[in-house]
Amino acid sequence: MEHFTENSKGVARRKYLTRRIRRFVVVLSLTGLIAIVFLRGSLSIIAQNYSEIVNEGYTNTEYVRAVDRDLYHHQVLVTEHLITSSPQEKEKLEKQINKLEEHMQQVLKEFGTNMKGHRYESYYHSIYSDIRAYLKNVSIIFDFSRNNDTETAAYYMDTSLGDYIDTVNQKVSEFEQLTSDDMSAARDKLNRNTLFVDIGSYILLFFILSGSFLGLMVCFRMYAEIVYTDAVTGAANYDRFLEIGEKYSHSGTLSEYAVLSPNIKDFKYMSSVIGTNGEEAVLTEYASRIVGFLEKGEVLARINNDNFIALIKKDRAEKILEHIKNMPVTVTVKNNDKKFAIQSRCGIYLAEDGDSISKAVNRAVSAMEESRKSSASDFVWYTHELLDKEKNDGEVIADFRYALANEQFKVYYQPKVDLDSQLLCGSEALARWIRDSKTVPPAKFIPILEEKGYVTELDFYVFEQVCKDIARWKENGIEPVRISVNFSKLHLKNAYFAEDIFEIMQKYGIESRYIEIELTESSGYEDFDAMTKFVDRMQNNGIYTAIDDFGTGYSSLSMLKDMDINVVKLDKSFLNGLENTVTQKVIGNIIKMITDLNKLVICEGVETEEQAAFLRSVKCRTVQGFLYDKPLPCSEFEERLKNPKYTGRLQD
Ligand code: C2E
Ligand code: MG
Ligand code: MG
Repeated sequence: MEHFTENSKGVARRKYLTRRIRRFVVVLSLTGLIAIVFLRGSLSIIAQNYSEIVNEGYTNTEYVRAVDRDLYHHQVLVTEHLITSSPQEKEKLEKQINKLEEHMQQVLKEFGTNMKGHRYESYYHSIYSDIRAYLKNVSIIFDFSRNNDTETAAYYMDTSLGDYIDTVNQKVSEFEQLTSDDMSAARDKLNRNTLFVDIGSYILLFFILSGSFLGLMVCFRMYAEIVYTDAVTGAANYDRFLEIGEKYSHSGTLSEYAVLSPNIKDFKYMSSVIGTNGEEAVLTEYASRIVGFLEKGEVLARINNDNFIALIKKDRAEKILEHIKNMPVTVTVKNNDKKFAIQSRCGIYLAEDGDSISKAVNRAVSAMEESRKSSASDFVWYTHELLDKEKNDGEVIADFRYALANEQFKVYYQPKVDLDSQLLCGSEALARWIRDSKTVPPAKFIPILEEKGYVTELDFYVFEQVCKDIARWKENGIEPVRISVNFSKLHLKNAYFAEDIFEIMQKYGIESRYIEIELTESSGYEDFDAMTKFVDRMQNNGIYTAIDDFGTGYSSLSMLKDMDINVVKLDKSFLNGLENTVTQKVIGNIIKMITDLNKLVICEGVETEEQAAFLRSVKCRTVQGFLYDKPLPCSEFEERLKNPKYTGRLQD
């Protein structure tokens, strides 16, 4: 895509947005995850807290229950002690009571340690003091009992011991109740918090997932757009076009469409005037004007440079061509509004059943290329003749190398004649392809070879044949004339063009005075520098250079002024309309100007005595044309060399 590698603002913005969204998704996920971890962490602290409360509650409940049990048991033993009259029994019971008291003391001690600093510590103290008071009373009862005052002992038993036990019982159950309340409160809190954390986590998870999903969807969408968008114009790119085309082709609907290949005329020239930025602006504006005209299902894409391709419904093709034909486009370049009436050329192919999209595109593009080659029409519809031509072009390319290797190309020589002396004064070497015993003229293969770049091989082949012929003529004592050889402008891209010429001349020992190099002027200004340098090198080595077909292409006076060429060949079209005096004056003056610049003028295509007479009258000394000779095979030209005087009219 040459210098159009930069992204358009739209694509750059989308890329920027996708980066932002990706960052947002990452940040969202991370914060969400951190929040979940935090929530889960605080939940585990709450759970730990709860389990501590529960454990403590159970332990304390166990203690008070043990105390209660011991107390109850103690009271039973004390009662039995009172009732029994057997001293052995009393002794046994006393031992049991003491043991129980010890156990009770032990439990109370542990309970006391556990309750230190506990919010219900007062319960412990109260139970403890009640038990102490109980035990004190028990020892009083034992005293009465030992003194056989069983009545007072029984009275104490009923009153104070029972009271103490009741109070302890009551405090124990109160304590149990409080502990159980605390435990269920802790459980409720834990349940609540667990629910809160669960819901919170799910909500967060939901947000993370939906946020990420949404972000990724938007990213994917934008990426898809980037992948399918032309970076310069913002229209579809070629990949997108092919995808749509393939879809139509598979569904059998491609035949409802015409494939159009619009191209901006003189875009290179326009670029040189408005620069890269202006170029982009023109392409964008051009694309958007066509896109604005499209209907559902139709698509315009840019292939590269100023080459576009479109799928348009067949019944709308004419309408859109009318629209494209002359589109005024205004672009702002360096704060200046520039108006261009953009002219397009376009190839049109009406897709047929069974066509693949690439075939349809190739045909539309071939039609466009055809319009580029022939100036007859800017809008070329693909026809079956074009198909034949394409086939022929393909065959030329396929057979060329074989033909070259098998010497199917022959050099013909067309004499140049000095009008004053009527003598042969030079000749032009012209290629002929002898193919299947038929002579194929250059018009049938040179443009094709030129287009594919193969013509350079042919040119050097012709040049080498010419050098061989000159060397042979010299060897045979035939004095040669200066032979001009046509070289395509493509050679100017070869840095060793001049060296390659010198090398062949050296190989055959050819003096420079026998050689002239013809270059056409038609390919425009861009070769100017390379051509000037090449002409200078030839000049320095005494080799003539000629501008061929002068007056047909980008005739630039600076070519005559600044280039040190020796010969200017006026194109045969100059001789059209010679009966008109204005034309005569124009030609006369052009010839005068060129002669004044110390250059030789040759007029090509002289067919009549009248033309020759006119040229003589305007001091054009050298001519080439059917009036004297057609391009001759080598052997016939050799005869001309031996017999260089032209005496009569047209020679056959
Ligand atoms: P060109 O170099 O301008 O050659 C002159 C053409 O005018 C020749 O056509 C010649 O046969 C034709 N011609 C000469 N006198 C008359 C005339 O009185 N009347 C008419 N109607 N035509 C005349 P040709 O040989 O068909 O060559 C056509 C073009 O092909 C050449 O035009 C040249 O541009 C190109 N060409 C031929 N051989 C070569 C080659 O070896 N290399 C390259 N690069 N181009 C070649
Ligand atoms: Mg020529
Ligand atoms: Mg010519």
